[in-house]
Amino acid sequence: MRFPAEPFRIKVVEKIRRTTRDEREQLLQRAGLNVFLIPSDSIYVDLLTDSGTGAMSDQQWAGLMIGDESYAGSKSFFKFEAAIRDITGFPNVIPTHQGRVAENLLFSTICSEGTTVIANTHFDTTRANVEANRAEALDLPVKEALDPSLGKLFKGNMDLVKLEHELKSRKGHVPLVVMTVTNNSTGGQPVSMENVRATSKLCKQYGVPFFIDCARFAENCWFIHELEPGYKGKAILEIARELFSHADGCWMSAKKDALVNIGGFLAMNDSDLSRKLQQKLILIEGFPTYGGLAGRDLEAIAVGLYEGMEHDYLQYRTAQVRFLGEMLLDAGISIVRPVGGHAVFIDARSFCEHIPPEQFPGVALTVALYREAGIRGVEIGSLMFGHTDPKTGKHVGPHLELVRLAIPRRVYTTSHITYVAESLLEIYKSREKIKGLRLTYEAPVLRHFTARMEEIS
Ligand SMILES: *Cc1c(COP(=O)(O)O)cnc(C)c1O
Repeated sequence: MRFPAEPFRIKVVEKIRRTTRDEREQLLQRAGLNVFLIPSDSIYVDLLTDSGTGAMSDQQWAGLMIGDESYAGSKSFFKFEAAIRDITGFPNVIPTHQGRVAENLLFSTICSEGTTVIANTHFDTTRANVEANRAEALDLPVKEALDPSLGKLFKGNMDLVKLEHELKSRKGHVPLVVMTVTNNSTGGQPVSMENVRATSKLCKQYGVPFFIDCARFAENCWFIHELEPGYKGKAILEIARELFSHADGCWMSAKKDALVNIGGFLAMNDSDLSRKLQQKLILIEGFPTYGGLAGRDLEAIAVGLYEGMEHDYLQYRTAQVRFLGEMLLDAGISIVRPVGGHAVFIDARSFCEHIPPEQFPGVALTVALYREAGIRGVEIGSLMFGHTDPKTGKHVGPHLELVRLAIPRRVYTTSHITYVAESLLEIYKSREKIKGLRLTYEAPVLRHFTARMEEIS
């Protein structure tokens, strides 16, 4: 079967509103053609992000009722801590309210001027936290990661030759090596166990701590289970334990594979480092047994971590994302290949061949997708990462112009996904009608969130 049916039935429903094309046209004009500025109740299928948008299970909701809200020594914390110790093997567990706070605690403690953090690819909040602490964030993805049409396995991997070179030449100046699983910024591509093992070995050899940014560890372990020799017979929990056994610590945005709407944590072997981070935690988040979360959130995470590793769930989850990708590929639409764990990335440059990068082909496609079908995706291209050179007045853009369709966990059914694919197929048939855009307002930083644009006729 191309797509296993959902391994759950629906107990609570949330109404979503179908709007008319005229309504959407008005909303787009009011939003300056920026889908970030459209209220979510006017969106039919929202694929803006998979972060914090998942649906919790009855078991998680039941957990909310038994959450222990004691300021210190909450029962729910011990349950949370036990789950993380069981899965990762790391004895020291620090709760945080999001992944980026974990990053802030860690990098403000270990980074200084002249140091370099090395990763397969830093996620954007990770890079920002490294750079905010005056260190350099160096990405060493394998070179296949840069070719979107190459359907090679494990494109999330670290380039080991370059890693060894950098560890050698920067000896004493690398406070940490990070493996992001799955590699979010290169398209949710998985990292192989072999690559984790080899990275760990190099780090030990050069005496550098090795951490895993494990927001999507369960999806990554599923790909190892499916694609890497020797893992077919193993349970995802067993694979996860092996993954973490190669590292000295990890941090997680629980808004992804822990199937909750808010939360995160750090976990590590080093007790001295953990104590230092706890001191900062008390300053900026809260007491070490809640760390910016309610007791009920800790309960939901403890349950969600295990649900996120269930075989049937991961099979359905990854197949749903792949199904969308394959429907687009079958119709001749270029996407980043192979399809990763949490999203489909459309190659907007090839979809809108007639629109040059300085007219934002990716944003133009998000506008068409909302206008025609009420679907929200996000541009990852010239608006997000490009700028105008102040000297030459010329547009400087990134390597790729993409539109990401991120799939929330357990939220949309096969019919929703089919609707998204069919809508795109329709738009593709008359793609030459999509118009290029020009900016009418841009903020000095992170302009994509608030930019306003108009169509060039
Ligand atoms: C989402 C994410 C983060 C940041 O976590 P928040 O919970 O959004 O603060 C860090 N790393 C990766 C890989 C992520 O996907």
